[in-house]
Amino acid sequence: MTTELQHSPAAQNPAIPAFPAATVLGYPRIGRRRELKRAVEAYWAGRTDVHELEATAADLRRTTVARLVDLGLPADDASVPSSFSYYDQVLDAATTVGAVPERFAHLLSDAGELDLAGYFTVARGVGDLPPLEMTKWFDTNYHYLVPEIGPGTAFRLASDRPVREFREALEAGVTTRPVIVGPVTFLLLSKAADGAPSGFSPLSRLADLLPVYADLLRALAAAGAPWVQLDEPALVTDNLDVPRDEVLAALRTAYATLATDLRSPDRPAVLVAAPFGDLGDALPVLADSDVEAVALDLVRGTAPTEPVPGLGSTTLVGGVVDGHNVWRADLSARLEVLERLEGLGAAAVSVGTSTSLQHVPHDVADEPDLDPGLAGWLAFADQKVTEVVTLATGLREGREAVHAELLAASDAVASRASAVGVEVAAVRERTAALRTTDFHRAPAQERRAAQEARLGLPALPTTTIGSFPQTVEIRRARAAHAKGDLSLEAYEDAMRAEIARVVALQEEIGLDVLVHGEAERNDMVQYFAELLDGFAVTRNGWVQSYGSRCTRPSILWGDVSRPAPMTVRWAEHAQSLTEKPVKGMLTGPVTIMAWSFVRDDVPLGETARQIGLALRDEITDLEAAGIAIIQVDEPALRELLPLRRADQAEYLDWSVGSFTLATAGVRPDTQIHTHLCYSEFGEVIGAIDALDADVTSIEAARSRMEILPDLAGSGFSRGVGPGVYDIHSPRVPSQTEVTELLELAVKSVDPRLLWVNPDCGLKTRGYDETVPSLEHLVAAAAAVRETL
Ligand code: GLN
Ligand code: ZN
Repeated sequence: MTTELQHSPAAQNPAIPAFPAATVLGYPRIGRRRELKRAVEAYWAGRTDVHELEATAADLRRTTVARLVDLGLPADDASVPSSFSYYDQVLDAATTVGAVPERFAHLLSDAGELDLAGYFTVARGVGDLPPLEMTKWFDTNYHYLVPEIGPGTAFRLASDRPVREFREALEAGVTTRPVIVGPVTFLLLSKAADGAPSGFSPLSRLADLLPVYADLLRALAAAGAPWVQLDEPALVTDNLDVPRDEVLAALRTAYATLATDLRSPDRPAVLVAAPFGDLGDALPVLADSDVEAVALDLVRGTAPTEPVPGLGSTTLVGGVVDGHNVWRADLSARLEVLERLEGLGAAAVSVGTSTSLQHVPHDVADEPDLDPGLAGWLAFADQKVTEVVTLATGLREGREAVHAELLAASDAVASRASAVGVEVAAVRERTAALRTTDFHRAPAQERRAAQEARLGLPALPTTTIGSFPQTVEIRRARAAHAKGDLSLEAYEDAMRAEIARVVALQEEIGLDVLVHGEAERNDMVQYFAELLDGFAVTRNGWVQSYGSRCTRPSILWGDVSRPAPMTVRWAEHAQSLTEKPVKGMLTGPVTIMAWSFVRDDVPLGETARQIGLALRDEITDLEAAGIAIIQVDEPALRELLPLRRADQAEYLDWSVGSFTLATAGVRPDTQIHTHLCYSEFGEVIGAIDALDADVTSIEAARSRMEILPDLAGSGFSRGVGPGVYDIHSPRVPSQTEVTELLELAVKSVDPRLLWVNPDCGLKTRGYDETVPSLEHLVAAAAAVRETL
C-alpha cells in the first residue's frame, strides 16, 4: 500500500512545482476587437499572406499573455494558460496527433505535417472534399470540429505548435501552461472515419494514441513547461455512445500511461480539467492516479461532500468563478465553497474558473453603452481573472486581506437583487397564475380540418424558412441607421421596400406560403432582445461561435415582458401586398435563452415561461392582424439538452412547456409552424411531437430524407417540411434532384402532411443562387403533385 507521503508529488520529485494559487482554464482568443477573425478572413480572401496572419496571431498571443499578467496572474508559475487556436481546439488536437482524414492526405508535407493553409482546408473543406463535421461543444454555443478516426489512423506527433507557443511566451518572460484537449475526450468526441467497420469505436484506438500524447508531454517538458492542462470535459456527461465503465477504464489507462509510466522530469506536471459539470465517479479514478492536479467545475457541478480516497497527493483547482456566464460572483459565497473544498483532504486547493473563459466576452470596460447599474453586476473575462486572483488571496491570507473586495462584490449582488426590473410583480403574477389549459390547444385533427378550410393550400405546399438574402444594401442601411446617418423613417421605408420586393419575388416564383423575409432583423435573437424588457445588448461582447464566426449574445438580466408588438407591422405590411398567406416569423423562447447569457438568480423555467408569455401576446396580435400561419423557430431546442440524462426530463418539461405556452393561445384555424435546423432527432423526437406544432420543418437534404422513415415509425403524424435542398452551400440544386428527394419523401410520409421547403433560412445566400433554387423547388413540387 502506498502511503500518502509516497504518493505526494513533492515526495516523488522535489522538482515538481506547486500548482499556481489562481488560474483561468482558458481565455478568449478571437481578440477584443476580433483581430483574429479579421486576420484569418483577410488571409482566406487572399488579401494577406500567411506571414502576416502569423504575425497578427503572435501579436494577439503576446497581448493576451501580457494582459493576464497585468490582471494579477504571476508570470513565472504557469498560471497563465496558453490556449490560443487559429480555428478550434479540437482540430488543433487532431492535427497535433496526426489525425487528418484520408481525403486530406495530399495536404501533408513529406514529413507528414500540415501547414496553416492545410489546417484551414481541413476545417472548411475544398471543392468536393467536405470539411470535418461541426458540432456543439457541450452546453455552450461554441462549435468544434469532429475528428474522424478509423482503424488505420496513423497517430504521430505531427505538430510542435504547443511547444512553439510555449517557447514564444517564455521568450517574452512568461511561463505559460499549455492547454490541450485530453486523450479520452479527444477520442470520445471523434466519430468513426468513413469506411471503418460497423461498430468501430474511436476509443478502441486509445493505446495507439497515448504514446503520441506522451511524446508531446516530453517535448513540452524539454522546452521547460512546468505544467500542462489536459481538458477532459467528456467525463462530465453520460450522454455518450460509450458505456460509462468503458469511459472510466479508458481514463484509468490514459493517466497511468501519461502520469505514472511517464514521470517528471520527462513530463510537465499534469492538470486534468473537467469543465461543464460533475466528474462523478471519474473523480475517484483521477484521485487514485498520479495526475498532480484536477480542476472541478463548481458552478455547474458541486464538490464532493466526503473526503475522496487518494486525493492526498492531488491539488484541487476549485472552479468557482463561472466561465460560461457573465455575472459578477458573490465572492464571499465562492470563498465558502473553496473553504469546504479544503476539507476534502486534497494536497492543496487552488482557485480557478469553472470553464475556459472563451465563452464570455473580454471586458465589461469595453461596453460604454451599458447602463452603469447593469455593468456593475457583470464580469467578463478580464473581471473574472481579477475575481480568481482575489479569491486566491482570500483563501491563502484570510478574508481580512480581501475585505474591501468581498464587500464590493456583496454590494453588487445586493444591488442586483433589489434593482428595478429584476423582479417585476406583474410578470411574476402572470406566470404564477398559469393553468394547464394555457399550455394546450384543441386536438390536432380538429385543427387540421379548420386550417385546411381556411387556407385552401394545394398538396405539397411550398414555402421558405423565413429569411431572404441579407443584401449589402440592407446591411448598409442598418449600419447607417445605427450611426445616426439614416433616420428611423428612412430606414423603415427601406425595410418596407425590401419586404415588397421579396413578396413580389415569391409570387413570381410561385411559392404558396410567403414570408416577409426578415430584412429588419440583425439577428434572430438580438432583434427580439432589443424589443423585450429584461434584456440588454452589448457593443463589443463578441464570443467565438466557430472558426472566425462570433456572436454577440444578449444579456437577459430581468423579468421579461413585451412593452409593444415586435413584428406585427412588418407581417401586416407583407400580407397587405398579397392574396397568398404570409407566415409570421418569431424566435422561440428556448432559442432566445440558448443564444443569450441567462440569469443565474431565477430558475430557467421561470424565464422560459416569461418569454413564452411575451411571445404569446405577439402571436395573439399577429392572429388579430389576419396572419393565418405563424412560425416559431426553435433550432436550439436540442442544443440545451442537459449533459446528464437524469436532468433531461425536467429540461424538456420547461422547454417544451414554454413553446406550447407561446403558441397555445391561438384559434384552431391558425396554423403554427416550427423550424429545427438539424435532423438528428433521435433523443428528442418525443419532445418535438410534444411541441404540438401543426407543421415542423427540419434539415433533411444532406441525409437524403433519412429522418422521414424514423419520424413516421415513431408515430409522428403532424405536418412536416423536410428540407429539399442544403442552403449551407452556394450550389443550386437541379429540379431533378429536388424531385428525387420529394419522391423519396412521399414514400415515407403521407403526402397530405408533406410540405416543401429548403433546409433553413436564406439570409447567408445570394439572390443568384436563391432564385433558381426556389424555382427548381417549386417546379419539382408541381411535378410530384401531378403524380399523387
Ligand atoms: N427563420 C429563421 C431564418 O430563416 C430561421 C433561422 C434558423 O433556423 N437558424 O433565418
Ligand atoms: Zn434552420
